[in-house]
Amino acid sequence: MQPVYEYIGNAHIHTPYSDGEGSHAEVAQAAVQAGLDFVIVTDHNVLVQGVEGYYHFGTDQRVLLLTGEEVHDPRRQPQANHMLIYGVEQELAPHAPHSQTLIEQVEAVEGSCYLAHPLEKSAPLFDEPAIPWVDWTVEGYTGIELWNYMSEFKSHLSSPLAALQAAFRPERFISGPFPQTLALWDQLLGEGRRVRIIGGADAHANRHSLGPISRVVFPYEYLFRCVNLHILTPRPFSGDPEHDKRLVLNALRDGNTFIGYDLPAPTRGFRFSAQGLNTHAIMGSWLRVGDGVTLQVACPQIAQSRLIHNGKVVLEESEGTHSTFIATRPGAYRVEVYLPYKGKPRGWIFSNPIFITN
Ligand SMILES: [Zn+2]
Ligand SMILES: [Zn+2]
Repeated sequence: MQPVYEYIGNAHIHTPYSDGEGSHAEVAQAAVQAGLDFVIVTDHNVLVQGVEGYYHFGTDQRVLLLTGEEVHDPRRQPQANHMLIYGVEQELAPHAPHSQTLIEQVEAVEGSCYLAHPLEKSAPLFDEPAIPWVDWTVEGYTGIELWNYMSEFKSHLSSPLAALQAAFRPERFISGPFPQTLALWDQLLGEGRRVRIIGGADAHANRHSLGPISRVVFPYEYLFRCVNLHILTPRPFSGDPEHDKRLVLNALRDGNTFIGYDLPAPTRGFRFSAQGLNTHAIMGSWLRVGDGVTLQVACPQIAQSRLIHNGKVVLEESEGTHSTFIATRPGAYRVEVYLPYKGKPRGWIFSNPIFITN
């Protein structure tokens, strides 16, 4: 079995180049403090040049900062169709009004694109509209953003009191991806589409997010301890920014990733893999069913894990850290894990699927 290396990052972040309020250096510093290995800044409709590379702090701390982009059509009313784009070196924002063209442009240079916060709820108290994905005729995108921390947070602002409580004790509210987004994903997988997922902070470090509350409601560092993207790579980071950037972008393109809510407990070490007769697959990749494939799940601690095949739970484990399942039917297999925290089970880990074909 090939070794894999795991790195933790956040791939949905804004700076003052769009509507965030912390500089690239501040993003990097917060990431180092939170223990992240990489961050990808995704400002709206601008591919910021000249900021990528390793940022060093002290003698032995560093973080790889990369630039992606969140593209949308600012003229569209109401707002919709935000797309996260990675691994593209030219500005694609002019294609934003035509989602399918945008996707094809990304594909032409072997980048990756994820439909951001595809189902969103508005927060009318704060004049925050929902910004969902609506253009569902598109094809060929890499995946969807299954769990967007700030988008979920927005959904909890149902009253002034709830908003105040959520601002000061977000961990009591944050629960996981919307069930509707999970159902949507399962539906797309059930149609045979190889839809991958990412999750992230959507960090802005804005001061004014909650009107009268003047502190930075969500500093970058706090968010970088919450919903993160864990990538699996075939080689370790070398410290060369170009080499390590390629590893990150390849993992994003292939979906060799899982979402980890690292606040309740670290999700590092989670694995979901498949073993065929002479073949092996990790999250995001595929293999043939043959005479059967052994799926293996390993959790970093005891939690409630579910193996899901085309939307149906085929295996549940709540008393051990490891489980196995022999898959004899093709389709998309994925794992979700819940951990009790602050009085109820919280979404903890969401894996990319392993695709099993005939
Ligand atoms: Zn967005
Ligand atoms: Zn965003």
